[in-house]
Amino acid sequence: MRCPFCHARDSRVIDSREISGGESIRRRRECPVCSRRFTTYERVEMAALIVVKKDGRRQEFDPEKLRAKLRVALTKRPVGEQEIQELVQKIETDLMALGTPEVPSSAIGEAVLRRLHALDQVAYIRFASVYRQFADIEELKREVEGLAISGDYPETVKP
Ligand SMILES: [Zn+2]
Repeated sequence: MRCPFCHARDSRVIDSREISGGESIRRRRECPVCSRRFTTYERVEMAALIVVKKDGRRQEFDPEKLRAKLRVALTKRPVGEQEIQELVQKIETDLMALGTPEVPSSAIGEAVLRRLHALDQVAYIRFASVYRQFADIEELKREVEGLAISGDYPETVKP
């Protein structure tokens, strides 16, 4: 790393420590030419997740948009902003775990349904009724009844 003071080409690491739970590393460096010290931060850059929509258009995964949708599904449910934030992260991790840089928008819908199912069944039904576009009330009824019977949904992706 080039010295920001005298622009010497090299610097020596004198201390490294993990911060924010190991997600990044802070290094103290010293310039061998001017002896001044400075700090650098290192963190993993996650490749952007690309969502492929039904019509074939591609766009970058937008956690803010997902958060807004979840907020709507969770209106008046006992789920706080912090939990919604965690839910968004879990869903993003689920999508990353698919191991492909591009995911169909349906994969997001399914990941959301899986997570909501485990978290709040009212929100799950709300989201499912929009996402799955139930053809009629009978179809919705079957989904609700299925919830009551199955009790738990197979967790294919662990947190
Ligand atoms: Zn220097």
